[in-house]
Amino acid sequence: KEVKKVTFVQCAGQRSDKEGHLDYCSGDCCLTSIKQAMYFKDQNPDIETEILFDDLRTPGAPGEDFYRSGQDKMVTFRKGKVSEVVAGSNGPVVKFKDMILDEDVEEEADLVVLATGMVANSGVNIDEVPQNEPGEWEVSVDSILNLNYRQGKDLPHLKYGFNDSHFICFPYETRRTGIYTCGPVRRPMDTQQAIDDATGAALKAIQEIENAKVGRAAHPRSGDLSYPIFRKEGCTQCKRCTVECPFGAIDEDERRFPVFNESRCRRCGTCMGACPVRVISFENYSCDTVGQQIKNVDMPDEFDEKPRILVLACENDAYPALDMAAQQGVTYSQFARVIPVRCLGSVNTIWVTDALNSGYDGIIL
Ligand code: SF4
Ligand code: SF4
Repeated sequence: KEVKKVTFVQCAGQRSDKEGHLDYCSGDCCLTSIKQAMYFKDQNPDIETEILFDDLRTPGAPGEDFYRSGQDKMVTFRKGKVSEVVAGSNGPVVKFKDMILDEDVEEEADLVVLATGMVANSGVNIDEVPQNEPGEWEVSVDSILNLNYRQGKDLPHLKYGFNDSHFICFPYETRRTGIYTCGPVRRPMDTQQAIDDATGAALKAIQEIENAKVGRAAHPRSGDLSYPIFRKEGCTQCKRCTVECPFGAIDEDERRFPVFNESRCRRCGTCMGACPVRVISFENYSCDTVGQQIKNVDMPDEFDEKPRILVLACENDAYPALDMAAQQGVTYSQFARVIPVRCLGSVNTIWVTDALNSGYDGIIL
């Protein structure tokens, strides 16, 4: 049958909380539908092409121009909420509500194209695998990576099944050191974005290989040679460090003492912050080194130059942000004292106690 009319249905099963639908926008379907509609017009300008949308989204700098190109080629854009596509006597029939005219419409088409969205194939969500006991996960037979991590054999997910990768703290990297995700497994994106993403991930992987060769840390403390050590005689075998390490870098020996895995460790200090008896430290970063910075200040008396505020700022984002603010001439109260920390996860509650005992009135993390 000759195709004379094509209807594109945007957000088909997307941006919807109905069961079986996707909650999110795939960010690419509107552009793809406009492109396909223009291909039809290039082949045969007499073909009627109609795009039914709820909200048309054309992200990126040239997005608006692309939409206008579609209009120039006589692609029709119609704001309509599609409820159903059914079989008619001459082909598919699209039922929708025209949102401008506020009326129910039934339209025949020769071809209906559904923009169904992207679903990541990220493997098993290890956070949803049942635990036999706290910190001991069942082995899932559906694993696609089969990693040897006590937390599970796959990568942690961030949201909607897409792999976790923190934009600031570890861009492109997953929480499994040495594994870099890119493209629509990380977030919905088009081909060009996926190519750029793959370039970023490849550069990160090269950096990691170079560092690993000489025993240095990967991002975010790229090149760091320090390493967490723990005082075994003080350890209570509580497993807090093992469970809290975001990168699965700590296992346990048969007596349940922590065993640190050097090649996985990112030197974030979260284990140090989590340890209730403060027996974990680094050569150049410990509960004591930060504690001394907190305590060794001349605190004015109770009613003078107050309030005194302690800011514990993550060196990956908050501290650079303060630095940039200062470069822009932004000022803040001289009563605030800023101390950089490796990660907010490394903040040990003893620092809060030290600060309050030293006369600080408040602490900002
Ligand atoms: S510093 Fe501690 S918490 Fe951070 S990655 Fe290394 S072992 Fe894990
Ligand atoms: S958190 Fe501290 S006390 Fe608990 S197992 Fe780890 S090192 Fe030992």
